[in-house]
Amino acid sequence: MFIDHEYIESLLKEAKNATTEDIAEVLNKAKDRRGLSHKDIAVLLQIEDKTQEEKMFKIAGAIKESIYGNRVVVFAPLYISDYCVNNCTYCGYRRDNKFSRRKLTKIEIEEEVKLLEKMGHKRLALEVGEDPVNCDIDYVLEAIDTIYNTQNEKGNIRRINVNIAATTVENYRRLKEAKIGTYILFQETYHKPTYDKVHPKSMKGDYEYHLTAFDRAMEAGIEDVGGGVLFGLSDYKFEVLALMLHNEHLEENYGVGFHTISVPRLKKAEGMNLTDFPNLVDDNSFKKIVTILRIAVPFTGIILSTRESAQMRRELIKYGVSQVSAGSNTGVGGYKEHEKGNSVDQFDVADHRSPLEVLKELIDDKHLPSYCTACYRSGRTGDRFMRLAKSGQIQNVCAPNAMMTLMEFVMDYGDEELYKKAEALIKEEADKIKREDIKKLLLNNIERIKMGERDLYV
Ligand code: SF4
Ligand code: SF4
Repeated sequence: MFIDHEYIESLLKEAKNATTEDIAEVLNKAKDRRGLSHKDIAVLLQIEDKTQEEKMFKIAGAIKESIYGNRVVVFAPLYISDYCVNNCTYCGYRRDNKFSRRKLTKIEIEEEVKLLEKMGHKRLALEVGEDPVNCDIDYVLEAIDTIYNTQNEKGNIRRINVNIAATTVENYRRLKEAKIGTYILFQETYHKPTYDKVHPKSMKGDYEYHLTAFDRAMEAGIEDVGGGVLFGLSDYKFEVLALMLHNEHLEENYGVGFHTISVPRLKKAEGMNLTDFPNLVDDNSFKKIVTILRIAVPFTGIILSTRESAQMRRELIKYGVSQVSAGSNTGVGGYKEHEKGNSVDQFDVADHRSPLEVLKELIDDKHLPSYCTACYRSGRTGDRFMRLAKSGQIQNVCAPNAMMTLMEFVMDYGDEELYKKAEALIKEEADKIKREDIKKLLLNNIERIKMGERDLYV
């Protein structure tokens, strides 16, 4: 088993004895982008001193800036079925919660997608509970097909990341054929005793089957996989080191690690009390988690959801988050219900702002919002993507693509205020582009988009 609990615990124990000099040495290593060992990451996790913490936040911010610039990718989740045979103690969809469950019909999916498109979304994360009878793989595949084929007057969904329960190689092959983006699966917790406790008597209760899901996905040819932990279930320090071990296992065996890591934090849901969970993560520790992940795996996207408040999201974007959801509803049929003024969420959402509002704030904070899906559609996935990312060449495509998708948004879904903000930002950003040919192409494409062309990318 590649998550060696004793090893992780011994690393954390030993790191508690790190001296100020040891910590300074690891921080310098991080600053100079020298590869960090497990021991080094454990040392970062044990930092308590405020000055050292600040130094670490700054280093993560600088790493983020140098790799991602000021771009932030925006997406939305789409829940299509809340049937679930599992009984995860932290989730509103658990089988013990008695409510009227449902899954969306093809027509209802189209309606949801149109509402998402109306908000300007191009990237979705498809979410379902686990139920082999009511929500089998055929239903999921049909839903993917429906989403890709739902064209609204102004656009369509260009990338669907899929979050379904651990499954077989054969089912992953079918997902791959359906042209999914990233396959996302949260381990929830890597700590086996905790895993067993929070997943009582259920399909999801098989720790090892869940843990090896990405091995089967990669065997099936899916190259981009996204891991995650539900922070608050177990000791976050253990979880961060376990995430690193999982990432290395994938790199060693399949040549590429996590494409993304999600950092959901446990929130109140129907039928559970937060007081039953002794490992809840406070805001400062949460900042440290994001920071350390950014330092440890600089090229892996970090995803933050609307579980977090606008203020928290704003801050975490500085230290490492590279993708945020916006305008989210986390219930089945949630976008239509929201239009009607109802809410049916899987968990408590803290940031209720629309994408338009989120975009304005991102730009005010000097961030460049992006709806780019170019890599996946040009076949830049898996290790081809990572090579491009690590070479730094990706900068030549990401920033121009972000600006083009921003201008598309402005033209199709924006208002006068956003137009002005985006124009000023694009001018500033275009001036930073060193390659004259790319700058010229970008400015030309921005004009083409204003004249009505769509889906331009490099
Ligand atoms: Fe079902 Fe997923 Fe909720 Fe567990 S976390 S009860 S598997 S929907
Ligand atoms: Fe992501 Fe590729 Fe677009 Fe850059 S160019 S934002 S890496 S999809």
